[in-house]
Amino acid sequence: MSDIAPNDLSSFWLPFTPNSSFQAKPRMITRAKGMYYYSDDGREIIDGSAGLWCCNAGHSHDAIVSAVQNQVAELDFAPSFQFGHPKSFEVASRIAALAPDDLNRVFFCNSGSESVDSAMKIALAYHRYKGEGTRTRFIGREKGYHGVGFGGISVGGMVNNRKFFGPLLAGTDHLPHTYNRDEQAFTKGEPEWGGHLADELENIVALHDASTIAAVIVEPMAGSIGVLPPPKGYLEKLRTICDKHGILLIFDEVICAFGRLGHSFAAERYGVTPDLITFAKGVTSGVVPLGGVIARDHVFDAIDGGPGATQDHEIRLFHGYTYTGHPLASAAALATLNVYRDEGLFERAAELEAPFGDACHGVRERASAVEDIRSLGLAVAFDVAPVPGKPGKRGYDLMEHLFFEEGLMVRVSGDTVCLSPPLIVEESHIEQMTDKIAKAVTHIAG
Ligand code: PLP
Repeated sequence: MSDIAPNDLSSFWLPFTPNSSFQAKPRMITRAKGMYYYSDDGREIIDGSAGLWCCNAGHSHDAIVSAVQNQVAELDFAPSFQFGHPKSFEVASRIAALAPDDLNRVFFCNSGSESVDSAMKIALAYHRYKGEGTRTRFIGREKGYHGVGFGGISVGGMVNNRKFFGPLLAGTDHLPHTYNRDEQAFTKGEPEWGGHLADELENIVALHDASTIAAVIVEPMAGSIGVLPPPKGYLEKLRTICDKHGILLIFDEVICAFGRLGHSFAAERYGVTPDLITFAKGVTSGVVPLGGVIARDHVFDAIDGGPGATQDHEIRLFHGYTYTGHPLASAAALATLNVYRDEGLFERAAELEAPFGDACHGVRERASAVEDIRSLGLAVAFDVAPVPGKPGKRGYDLMEHLFFEEGLMVRVSGDTVCLSPPLIVEESHIEQMTDKIAKAVTHIAG
């Protein structure tokens, strides 16, 4: 197209969005600062979703902004294949220091989806180098979200993300999801019921045989489907069963890491050390795309370390991205990690968990169409009664109404409304957000 009108909205194909509806009534953001977005018509909108679960330090933080500005003037790009630049090593060390136990090796990519694909490839390479190349199968979980790469949708369990895209990766299986409304409705934190569901892994292992299974991948708290906290004891059991059968355990912490659950990582909150952690989003507070995988020493050593593993010229892991360890992402990550540390934002999230949970659960009394509320850390989901025969319609209407009429950005998944505010959120914001949700649900769903 040669004649591009400045305000033509037809060329950009928005992801996960009904494009014609958007074009008819655009939700256009032009600026952000702290807890707020600002729309093209000058309205202030509370960011209830930290963008897409990523802007944990709040928006356009001065320290992060200037770190990125300075970096682009000093070193715009440097390759990470056979070369390096200091800041990417510094970020890796900082992340390794935050991660529990011997999760010491950090592989960088650019997004959560790439982090999942990278972790899956690392798991396959690990078994092959250990002489167990038959271990190629991955076990994910129903309702899981692991991004949109073919690896991620294959182990993921959100039906719409899978059903359009053919046979996917061969040789995957899925654990049952952990949600049961009859047993768990309106739970704050980790539900008492459901830990036993991890035992299903034994049945899956019995079916396929351990010798065919490379790894189990789960989100410690399933986020995108609408905040499903792990039942008490569940993650511990998965760890035990994986250890018993020589299966790697991958925690997809793309949402959970960097303070969302009041800790650096969910692994720390639960005292369970996986073999690999995937991360993205909060590592740069969303300012520059960055993702990665943290590997335990034994995983790295089997592939690329240990005495005599690497010959002078021999590459052991044939995987990486042009933008692995990008200087701008590295600068943004370093500045972000400093903000988290200096402003005590993970501790702040931990302290706010109880008042946040109380305020969110208070919506139950104020909006009768809310069928369940689940909260963990600074994340909450409100399940709203669907319009019969039109799944997702109520969620969409609520998202639109909250944006235009109430000045609140939320993330919806089907008919579930989620809040996951930046970790700088104050109790007054929490009150405003929950008021707006109660009001909007009553208005839209009666
Ligand atoms: N994994 C999890 C657990 C996520 O929540 C997401 C995104 O929400 C992803 C992977 C994919 O991340 P990205 O959208 O950066 O590819």
